[in-house]
Amino acid sequence: MRSDPSGAVPPGGAEPADATDPALETLRPGQPTPGAVGRVGPGADEGLADPGEVGRRQRHEVWMRRALEVAVTDPADGAPADDVDAVADIPVGAVVYGPDGAELAIGRNERELTGDPTAHAEVLALRRAAERLGRWRLEGCTLVVTLEPCTMCAGAIALARISTVVFGAWEPKTGAVGSLWDVLRDRRAIHRPEVYGGVLETENAAVLRAFFR
Ligand SMILES: [Zn+2]
Repeated sequence: MRSDPSGAVPPGGAEPADATDPALETLRPGQPTPGAVGRVGPGADEGLADPGEVGRRQRHEVWMRRALEVAVTDPADGAPADDVDAVADIPVGAVVYGPDGAELAIGRNERELTGDPTAHAEVLALRRAAERLGRWRLEGCTLVVTLEPCTMCAGAIALARISTVVFGAWEPKTGAVGSLWDVLRDRRAIHRPEVYGGVLETENAAVLRAFFR
């Protein structure tokens, strides 16, 4: 199992922690990931990377709180999202951290604000991180997002060679990192990042519930 999130992962290198999980052997497309019982979403935590030592879990939570902050911030003026355009967008925030843990870029869902169907928080954060580093390969980087990524974002994460994904709330209807699909941990995929799901799940779910209320 890869346990050092700061270590660069060679392409086609070490397998993710769950690759040898026998429970995943029998999975067929459309089947829920095992361990769904008792979880908020059908995506289970089974097969996810082990949060490991306390230090890592705490770092993930600190990073997730930053992503939550981004989720509820108006991208237009940096103020709390309270105008009509910003409020129209589902509050999802993403942050990309470099191998050294430095914040590289942020993104908030801006689909309604910009009228762009691909303007999801993850895609915007990946684009900005790549722009900042001057390259599309984001090996060694960690993407933190408040909601389980969709198929498009999971695809973009894999294409960007992100090494670690940390997400908050499970998304049973569109989630592609364990709920409806498991794009990032599909054993046919060339690039499989380490995945940590359900980080600050309660807080993240509460922000989304408040939006849809
Ligand atoms: Zn998405």
